[in-house]
Amino acid sequence: MSEIDILAIFAHPDDMELTVGGTLLKMKSLGYKTGALDVTGGEMGTRGTAKGRHEEAVEAARILKLDVRENLGLADGHVFVDEESRTKLVRVLRRLKPKVLLTHQYDDPHPDHNHIAQLVREAARLASMRRYDEEFGQERINVPMVAHNIFSRLLAPSFIVDVSEFAEQKMDAIKAHKSQFYNPDSDEPETRLTGEGFLSELENRTRYFGSLIGTTGGEPFYVREALNVDDPIALLTRPMNLYS
Ligand SMILES: [Zn+2]
Repeated sequence: MSEIDILAIFAHPDDMELTVGGTLLKMKSLGYKTGALDVTGGEMGTRGTAKGRHEEAVEAARILKLDVRENLGLADGHVFVDEESRTKLVRVLRRLKPKVLLTHQYDDPHPDHNHIAQLVREAARLASMRRYDEEFGQERINVPMVAHNIFSRLLAPSFIVDVSEFAEQKMDAIKAHKSQFYNPDSDEPETRLTGEGFLSELENRTRYFGSLIGTTGGEPFYVREALNVDDPIALLTRPMNLYS
């Protein structure tokens, strides 16, 4: 398996598409190798089956032009920051060697999402320690940097990625999860996500975060570290503040 530059680690097989699909498309267009790691198979979902959801994930990965999409195989609804989960994730990180990780935010109302925010940070650090899981025989890696997507809790973003050119493809990847979203032919139970309004809610969200940086589409992130900026003039004169 070849190494990748950026890896999105999210709980369920449509979370990555909903939150960072545009960023992954953009990174691919800039020549980076991109990947996604679904932590669970989404088998607890109200709609769909594990097998059907796997097929949808494969189709969405094709639309997003991902180099890699894998599943960590933890139990949906039962993701915890424990030794087994950390070791599994460290092994994936050491094999794929991503420089940047995208993941959930802390305090997300879904416990899997919340735990994964912590699990990813711990595994990122442990993967850099030579003696951790040494007996498995993998080399340590440099600590990948973690950017948390902002979705369910309101936080000021550290940065917003301009995904204007990719908003449509992002929606196509979301819609590849046919069992999860609006489908008038489905006779499975309705949820908030399966309502007709949810997809336009997602489009509005992308437009809103774009509007904050003066573009038509954006995806918001926060990082816990201070950002090391070489050229503040180049940074600050990008079209980011419409209201000064
Ligand atoms: Zn989820």
